[in-house]
Amino acid sequence: MPTKKRPRRNNRAKTKTQHEPAPGGTSGGAGERAGKIQVRMFRVGFGDCFLLTLPTAQGPRYILVDCGVHSKGNIKLEGTSLLEKAFDNIAQVTGKKLSIVIATHPHQDHISGFGSFAKQFGEFSISEVWMPWTEDPDDPQAKSLHDKRTTLVSRLQAHFAALGMSEDIGPAAAVANMAGNAPAFQALHSGFGVGAKVRYFKAGDLAKEPAGIQGLNVSILGPPTDQKFLAQMDPPANDHYLRLRGGDTGGAGMVEPFDRQQWSFAKEDPSLAWPELPEAYKKELRSRANSAVDELAFALDQCVNNCSIVALLSYQGLNLLFPGDAQYGNWESWVKSSGSASLLSGVSFYKVAHHGSVNANPKEALEKMPDAKFAAMMSTQSRPWPSIPAPGLLPALDRKTGKQWVRSDAIAISGAPSAPAGTVVPPVFQEGDFWFDYFVG
Ligand SMILES: [Zn+2]
Repeated sequence: MPTKKRPRRNNRAKTKTQHEPAPGGTSGGAGERAGKIQVRMFRVGFGDCFLLTLPTAQGPRYILVDCGVHSKGNIKLEGTSLLEKAFDNIAQVTGKKLSIVIATHPHQDHISGFGSFAKQFGEFSISEVWMPWTEDPDDPQAKSLHDKRTTLVSRLQAHFAALGMSEDIGPAAAVANMAGNAPAFQALHSGFGVGAKVRYFKAGDLAKEPAGIQGLNVSILGPPTDQKFLAQMDPPANDHYLRLRGGDTGGAGMVEPFDRQQWSFAKEDPSLAWPELPEAYKKELRSRANSAVDELAFALDQCVNNCSIVALLSYQGLNLLFPGDAQYGNWESWVKSSGSASLLSGVSFYKVAHHGSVNANPKEALEKMPDAKFAAMMSTQSRPWPSIPAPGLLPALDRKTGKQWVRSDAIAISGAPSAPAGTVVPPVFQEGDFWFDYFVG
């Protein structure tokens, strides 16, 4: 990690210095940075919200990549959710004009804002809305994946609720992230009701000059559509753990881990002289069943992450990689291909995948990125998952970027988790009230 300490600011001081950028979106760098691509990473808590400003001959054009926060990682400043403040800033900076809205994948921490602010987005001019092909309602395979996922999510929710498990706990938090996204989907699929063109993308697609932005080309690297990928996207094989106990009392809503016919018997039946299992053994069986359900929750969560659009935006000779929360299954589909080295070696900017989790930032991909020639931004915090960001990833980012990377939780917010003491922000990143700006190139 960098060595120079950055000053801590308190929120009251922030309020006094709070400023809003003029439409045109070059707050903190107007003039001197004119002509450069600007990436604004908002600190929203646990979630992603990135606003890109592309300079064009016709004036700035704006691309919004995700707008969401996890309900258990949502943080507030002076009583207002940072995501709401981010939305207000986006409206002001863009003059309510967005060329492209990208919803990388259907997780609350990436799309909740599209639902919460659907009405307000309906006052925007939006040219295009992008989603992964796995959300295409006209694609039979996508629909099948979607239906299975919906069923499993509701069963897992019922299971954890019956256990009394708080949504602050890992597997329950993972399931919560997949639930409650209907309002966002509705807004996205309807093009926010403003006539935006809704497009679904798969690996191999190329969007040439989308939304009429001359010179912009977007290569879509994920999610793939091949059989291997689809097998990974299918609910895991142990979905038999998810039989719901029907019409029962006491455990209603609980997942039944064992087959009822084979393993149930009437206690009062004298012909069944089954020995009573020792308490310790029963406890072990129970914990095994529960851990299998926990694993299923995490596996399903990973399936959804792997549905992420991985977009490589090329503009003005610069390449910006936005992989959403793609985890290894998604990366693997293209990073082993012969063309991946030339793609990755030309990266100028990298949005760290999945908030800095270890298997969303595979070593073989990072190693193909150019040494000390790109910057990276990571939207992260340690709540609700203390394992994120992965400590092992941080030295690798230091080395690969030449210490030109920044984490969103370096912006101190009272009561919110913060980056470790001693974390510094390299001067190429300009700190706003609750965001960092980076000018690419
Ligand atoms: Zn995420």
